[in-house]
Amino acid sequence: MYQLQQIPSETKIKKYLRHILFGKNLFCPVCGSRKVVQYETRYRCRTCRKKFSLFSHTWLSNMKLPYEKFWLLLWSWTTAIPIKQTKTLTRLSEKTVRYWFSAFRAHLPRETHVLERIVQLDEAYFRNAALLMGKQKGMRRLAYDVIFQPSVDRYQATQFLFQKVKPGTKLWTDGAAIYRGIERYWPLKEHRRDLHCKWEFGKTSEIEGVFGNYRTFVRRMYHHHWSENLEEYVREFCFRFSSPELFENPLFYLQKTLSLVPTCI
Ligand SMILES: [Zn+2]
Repeated sequence: MYQLQQIPSETKIKKYLRHILFGKNLFCPVCGSRKVVQYETRYRCRTCRKKFSLFSHTWLSNMKLPYEKFWLLLWSWTTAIPIKQTKTLTRLSEKTVRYWFSAFRAHLPRETHVLERIVQLDEAYFRNAALLMGKQKGMRRLAYDVIFQPSVDRYQATQFLFQKVKPGTKLWTDGAAIYRGIERYWPLKEHRRDLHCKWEFGKTSEIEGVFGNYRTFVRRMYHHHWSENLEEYVREFCFRFSSPELFENPLFYLQKTLSLVPTCI
């Protein structure tokens, strides 16, 4: 399998993980002592006598797969290999692949963009849920709210502006009623609306393109769309869209997301 050539050796993966978590010198994640001895695949602290492994004090503590398989699984996720192909590639069950893909997604850093200059704002509808999303025109910057209601109302649209759009922005929307007069609630430099009934579509073309990409992404990678996971999927999609560099290599993802979880002594 040609993909396997991209997977580093177990020794190399452990070296990467060790460096991310401990820097140059290994220490005990429980008491901080540097008197640590290695035995077999684990470590033991000579001060507090606790045993640990590279993953044991991180959010990956229940990762029991061999390191190379773990890397292949993470590589599949970062490269957006669909669930079913990943299952074949890794020889893991679909349940396991879904479990870890969901965990990788859940540990993406929290990011909030405040949009400015020209912002296109629009809604997309799913079963029992709606997505309100803004895109800064010409930039890879998105902000969104997932609303577990069949439709978006004006209150939610104004809340979105309060939290995610800088005062003095130029706002472009379609002609939906929820945006009518919205400039009275938030200081906008201008508010332009397309009237779809008059075949005007240019003001929201970028954000509508993003919605199309989102739907294709979820269908292709996850094969299903469950509205209860909408927030998670959207978050992953937005990260891929605005920070593609994080997905170039499993190592970059781990550098951003992996750290020692403080333990109570
Ligand atoms: Zn210790």
